Amino acid sequence: MHLKIITSDKIVFDENVDAIYTRGTDGEFGILPNHVPLMSALDIGVTKVVQGNDTKYFTTMGGVFQFKDGEGLILTTTAEDGNNIDVARAKAAMERAKALLDEHDAAIDAKRAEAAIARAKARLKASLSE
Ligand code: ATP
Repeated sequence: MHLKIITSDKIVFDENVDAIYTRGTDGEFGILPNHVPLMSALDIGVTKVVQGNDTKYFTTMGGVFQFKDGEGLILTTTAEDGNNIDVARAKAAMERAKALLDEHDAAIDAKRAEAAIARAKARLKASLSE
């Protein structure tokens, strides 16, 4: 089967794969060849792709997953190859967002801080540093 991961400005991945594991808004799920057609909203998380003995990790930050006739498609806001993650930057983003949440200040947008933490967690997971 085949998988394409696309953002509004680039094609991040476009290759044949043996298995796809991703994170939908209802939880994680896996796709093997011959899976029935499926459409799911994506959460902020990591998409794992298996190609023979090789495994690749990508962050996928929201959007939609579609599978039909052996073709997987991920349309997402942000997707990064786990090998290209700046780990120090992700850790700094995580610390900043956690510090904001710890302030318990009504002026802090908690949802925004929680989303920043989720993005940083996905980046650390995709880079295999967490
Ligand atoms: P930061 O606070 O460090 O900017 P962020 O979660 O707010 O993190 P985003 O708005 O999600 O960042 O992303 C902005 C751009 O920077 C995107 O192109 C994203 O791919 C890139 N980016 C953000 N963090 C990292 C990282 N740790 N490693 C590589 N690229 C990153």
